[in-house]
Amino acid sequence: MATALSMTMNKSTYKDQNVSSPYETALLQYDRAVGHLDLPTSVVEYMRYPRREFTVNFPVRRDDGSTEMFTGYRVHHSTVLGPSKGGIRYSLHVDLDEVRALAMWMTWKCALMGLPYGGAKGGVIVDPKTLSMGELERLTRRYASELIPLISPQSDVPAPDMGTNAQVMAWIMDTYSMTVGYSVPAVVTGKPLEIGGSEGRTSATGHGVVICMVEALKRQGITDPSNISVVVQGFGNVGTYAANHAFELGFKVVAVSDVNGGIYNPNGLDIQAVRAYYAETGALKDFGNAENITNEELLALPCDVLIPAAMESQITRLNADKVKAKLVVEGANGPTTPAADDILNDKGVLVIPDILANAGGVTVSYFEWVQDLQAFFWDQEEISRQLRRLMIKAYDFTAHTAEEYDINMRTAAQVAAIKRVAQALQTRGFYP
Ligand code: GLU
Repeated sequence: MATALSMTMNKSTYKDQNVSSPYETALLQYDRAVGHLDLPTSVVEYMRYPRREFTVNFPVRRDDGSTEMFTGYRVHHSTVLGPSKGGIRYSLHVDLDEVRALAMWMTWKCALMGLPYGGAKGGVIVDPKTLSMGELERLTRRYASELIPLISPQSDVPAPDMGTNAQVMAWIMDTYSMTVGYSVPAVVTGKPLEIGGSEGRTSATGHGVVICMVEALKRQGITDPSNISVVVQGFGNVGTYAANHAFELGFKVVAVSDVNGGIYNPNGLDIQAVRAYYAETGALKDFGNAENITNEELLALPCDVLIPAAMESQITRLNADKVKAKLVVEGANGPTTPAADDILNDKGVLVIPDILANAGGVTVSYFEWVQDLQAFFWDQEEISRQLRRLMIKAYDFTAHTAEEYDINMRTAAQVAAIKRVAQALQTRGFYP
């Protein structure tokens, strides 16, 4: 039976269930988009491949004195528009294909936003919850030292992603800085404020998701949030800030979930109370005044807006027809497979794609990098204003492209981004 898919997919389940893996999704989306563009085959082929891929196996000393081997990756998909940019994830789902997909999506995301970056992604196969603080630090520092030939403010700039956070970025920044002999804040973004981080970086992805949701609703003539019900899958960095910001704006957030399942109240949840409960118990289950639900049930809830903010391949050919939301705003990278995209499209569901909807994170990462390079820091107000400005600009750019080519927002975002990279590539020319 094709059940309990959500958040539990791995390589063999994709195959067994005939669901696209993240890399298959990324390549299918690419093929669809380039089909609308009149580009030379050499350019189409060039952008299909990651520029370079790095795999490393390394030891980490556990607290009990034993040593365990771990595997990590860093993929630079493109450096055409500038240094490659993208997060590092710690998760048991990590494999080279997943990192390739995420790196490719970063290329399109940065290009769509007009940031002077290529795309990259890194990952270590590990469940960070099984490590002590000391083990997490040793794993991070060893992985960072293996990355030193690849990263720098001019070549490749990592950031947080699933399973990593500001503290992990601080250890990477310190490891790099100790190796070169002086402090280099601009080598990573998403750092703590006290070592050159930016105001507003932690909440940026969630805020950007909500900016896109509000913009999509506004363009449908909906401006009163109080009657709009919102469902959020995922209660990590993106889901938490998206749910919280929507709640603050007066939207009715009726359900949220994490990897173990979710909670639902059709009258709306008090997200601040949910966050406090989650911080205290480490779970959403049995939060008072709400029904416990599975992730499959959550995706099928009656609601106006669905925000998948967990991970890839959550809305697939197996469950897309059950989605009742009229608007899907993708907080996660790659949460919808191409087959599911077609089903949602046929149902008239508007999908605001990941490379636009969740671009708030890398956009404030860009602000952080610029501030670090200039050693001049902006206040929260300036960050919020610039984030909003760039998000709306990219939304407009995508909507115009959709109209021009008569395609949906997913393909429009990819077409717009690919065009920018292709143009730069053709202007630079092939070396030698
Ligand atoms: N990991 C985030 C993403 O997927 C942010 C990347 C960055 O800030 O470089 O967009």
